[in-house]
Amino acid sequence: MGVVVAMDGPSGSGKSSTSRGVAARLGLRYLDTGAMFRAVTWWMLEHGVDPADAGAVAAHVDRPLLVSGTDPRRPTITVDGTDVAGPIRGPEVTAAVSAVSAVPAVRERLLREQRDVIGDGDIVVEGRDIGTVVAPDAAVKVYLTADAAARALRRAAEQAGADVSATEQDLLRRDSIDSGRATAPLSMAADAHHLDTTPYTLDEVVDRVVALVVEAREDA
Ligand code: C5P
Repeated sequence: MGVVVAMDGPSGSGKSSTSRGVAARLGLRYLDTGAMFRAVTWWMLEHGVDPADAGAVAAHVDRPLLVSGTDPRRPTITVDGTDVAGPIRGPEVTAAVSAVSAVPAVRERLLREQRDVIGDGDIVVEGRDIGTVVAPDAAVKVYLTADAAARALRRAAEQAGADVSATEQDLLRRDSIDSGRATAPLSMAADAHHLDTTPYTLDEVVDRVVALVVEAREDA
């Protein structure tokens, strides 16, 4: 089994940039599980399924065909053959994704697919429940956090014209749904390394995580 790096934490904590940086540096694959939840949410909205109606979401959960590319330098995701990398970052999907992600049938379906992609490992997997549920045996578990204000600044900088305080409110709203749901809530695994990224640059955080992976490989 190759190494599995589980990277969890709330929105805007730097998970994606860190995960991609670590995977690229070490020649590992990369899986963005948030993109999978966003892709299912995109499909529900496209097909007129109300994201707040858990029964309707569950009834349709097997319909979309998802394909996730695992190249950290060029992550891709398609739904029924359509490239949705852009639309899944839009405000409609972002507003609805936490409700869809709280539906147990959605999590069950994506859990199977996430484990299929992880396969024999050599992969960095980012999400909310990777170290606790998806890959509890991962050799390296990292839980990234950052101050809400720092997270909002980073997210707003990624989206031209975004309002920082509205972005912060949206992050806090999603954190609270993601942490409070009954199935696989956002939480830190007992054996995870907690890294508060607020004072560090991306390169510094990548260096820290790369060091943890190298150490784990030496111990294996
Ligand atoms: O990471 P990202 O912000 O793209 O994730 C979008 C949403 O997907 C999260 O707010 C959360 O509701 C959900 N998610 C999840 N479990 C994961 C990854 C993401 O519930 N492993």
